[in-house]
Amino acid sequence: MNKHMECDILVVGLGPGGSTAARFAANGGAKVIAIDKRAEIGTPIQCAEGVSKSVFEKLELEPDPNWLRKEVSGVKLIAPNGKVIDLDESKVSQVAYGYVLDRKVFDKDLVGHAARAGAEIYLKTRFVSGERLENGLVRAHARHFGEDVVIDAKIIIAADGVASRVGPFFGVKTFVPLKYMESCVQYEMTNMRDIKGLEMYFGHDVAPGGYVWVFPKSDNSANVGVGIIPVHSEHKAKYYLDKFLESPRMEGARFVELNAGGVPVSKPLKKTYADNILFVGDAGRIVNPITGGGISTAISTGKYAGMVASDAIRNGKTDADALSGYEDLWQDDFGKRLDVLYKAQEIFVEMSDDELNDAADALSKVNFDKISEIEILKAIAKTNIKLLIKLKSLI
Ligand SMILES: Cc1cc2nc3c(=O)[nH]c(=O)nc-3n(C[C@H](O)[C@H](O)[C@H](O)COP(=O)(O)OP(=O)(O)OC[C@H]3O[C@@H](n4cnc5c(N)ncnc54)[C@H](O)[C@@H]3O)c2cc1C
Repeated sequence: MNKHMECDILVVGLGPGGSTAARFAANGGAKVIAIDKRAEIGTPIQCAEGVSKSVFEKLELEPDPNWLRKEVSGVKLIAPNGKVIDLDESKVSQVAYGYVLDRKVFDKDLVGHAARAGAEIYLKTRFVSGERLENGLVRAHARHFGEDVVIDAKIIIAADGVASRVGPFFGVKTFVPLKYMESCVQYEMTNMRDIKGLEMYFGHDVAPGGYVWVFPKSDNSANVGVGIIPVHSEHKAKYYLDKFLESPRMEGARFVELNAGGVPVSKPLKKTYADNILFVGDAGRIVNPITGGGISTAISTGKYAGMVASDAIRNGKTDADALSGYEDLWQDDFGKRLDVLYKAQEIFVEMSDDELNDAADALSKVNFDKISEIEILKAIAKTNIKLLIKLKSLI
């Protein structure tokens, strides 16, 4: 790596958002440099690895069997009183299939796709700071194997995840208030019994403001984790997970791996673009605030960012006006859905165990055509007046 490099588009971060952005930007004809602070992409995993099948359409790639650990259909929701709502084919006529991925393979392969499209990839290269130059370019200062490097670009795509630090150097505040930061910890467990679909456990004593998940990775292993909102919790996330491991569900199960991370369950940034800069995925706070799922939104926003940025380079205009189409694209695609889910999340974190039990009762009486968060919310809203009022105009 040279100490001073130039490109059209610099992508910071090579998670699913950044590598998709780099691929689409390079396919659009731009000279792309993409950097990541990690030596090995996808490691350590900070994810339960669950995605819906639609993610591959968004990627515009055929799913590689090496990416897929387990196909799953249906999900079990477990209420605080232990009532199980089994959203399988007996309750849902068109069950949606999804996968538990192997992100160590998936994330790395997406970088491979970006590289083959023409993006120059630099690992172990940490974005440290940035500045605007008088000639209209943006400059990133980075550290590569202990050396200072400078990269000048016409556009930066910030895809550096939940702890994103690119924005403030270019006048964009990306701080997430604590009440919107979900704290997660997860063990990969083996020797698991009764592995079928996804399981999600709710309740104040189980996971305040969030849920415990069991996402199967094989016929005897699973990602078992918890996400909590710390301001609603008396204890740290690990306390709740360790407590769950003592439950009969986990009898005989054994640890294989531990990981932890944060998920922004806030609204997206007010503006996910500015002069010469775009924010994708977790860096843009563009995450499903109910489930904490962000792979699909990172991929979609990465794709739109790569397309809009390479168009902007071709047209020779890289100011905020020229980049605003990026936000239009993702907002048109799923912005309204995120807005509904955000409003529901605000109510969900305040729901008592009794209200959650009532919601489970309501769900147990409904049969669904398709399963989606919105369909579940519609069913629950009928039992919860606060939710009904808040979501009335939206669902
Ligand atoms: C415990 C846990 C479980 C989860 N489970 C799921 C799930 O089941 N399904 C789902 O859809 N989502 C899940 N998520 C969320 C999901 O992992 C993220 O939303 C998703 O990875 C976001 O992708 P991204 O590309 O925006 O960012 P990331 O995947 O976080 O990638 C960011 C990249 O930027 C790099 N980077 C960071 N800072 C710098 C820097 N200064 N310089 C250079 N590079 C930098 C990082 O090394 C990283 O490679 C989970 C999250 C957690 C924490």
